[in-house]
Amino acid sequence: MKNRKPLIAITGASSGIGKAAAEKFSMEGHPLLLMARRVERMEALALPDCICKKVDVIQLKEVKEAIAEAEKKYGPVDCLVNNAGVLASGNFSTQSPQDWENMLNVNVKGVLNGMHAILPEMIKRQAGTIININSGGGKRPYPGSAVYCGTKYAVKAITETVRQEVAKDNVRLIGIFPGFVETEMTNPKYDEEGKKKFDKIREEIGKTMTPEDLVSAIWFAYNQPAYITIREIFMAPNGDP
Ligand code: NDP
Repeated sequence: MKNRKPLIAITGASSGIGKAAAEKFSMEGHPLLLMARRVERMEALALPDCICKKVDVIQLKEVKEAIAEAEKKYGPVDCLVNNAGVLASGNFSTQSPQDWENMLNVNVKGVLNGMHAILPEMIKRQAGTIININSGGGKRPYPGSAVYCGTKYAVKAITETVRQEVAKDNVRLIGIFPGFVETEMTNPKYDEEGKKKFDKIREEIGKTMTPEDLVSAIWFAYNQPAYITIREIFMAPNGDP
């Protein structure tokens, strides 16, 4: 227990970037708390020293309870990767309020819930890292994703503001802004329109990124010495506009 690496918590670890991050941190010897709604997917990874919890990030109580359970077993969370996110594309004039409500809830409130659950203890310990997975859409908006980009701009502002607030407490806030990554988000199974849209973008970009490509940025940022904060990384395929 004494020489064990510190606990890493990851939201949205049931697929894509979150799953790849879980595999990387586990391979490097970290105990893990994995949170998402499809708990069976995370359990199927069968990672050692790993607690998988069915958590809806919109529910602060669920996030807090999962963190408390994992910390009891593995000690304090040293890094939270706030990765859970959803994308419903479509021009704003035709988008359903249900779609934008879900994006606002998961992409913004979900991130806030994770930060709220973990930040006071990190400040007390004067140590810790929070990595908020943003998007290229949080750097420059594009048609067909008004609300998604809006949520990511909000997360950018929140991340940078809180970074400034807690820097003196030795707590680091990091924003990672991915371009096109091959995940379930960019390969929607039951949305023919969405699938066509992503295929068109894929054709324009050429080579797209894997979740593992993106995780290399997460790993790099986390592993800087504790006195250095990589504030932002915008990582995208060459052909991504
Ligand atoms: P995936 O769809 O593969 O993964 C999304 C993850 O979020 C899933 O594990 C899903 O788990 C989880 N999730 C969604 N809603 C909730 C919820 N309410 N509570 C808990 N977990 C939830 O997509 P990506 O891996 O691509 O997405 C990860 C992040 O990367 C997102 O924030 C996304 O915006 C960002 N991103 C992705 C890009 C890409 O090209 N793929 C580009 C730019 C940014 P479950 O359904 O089991 O709950």
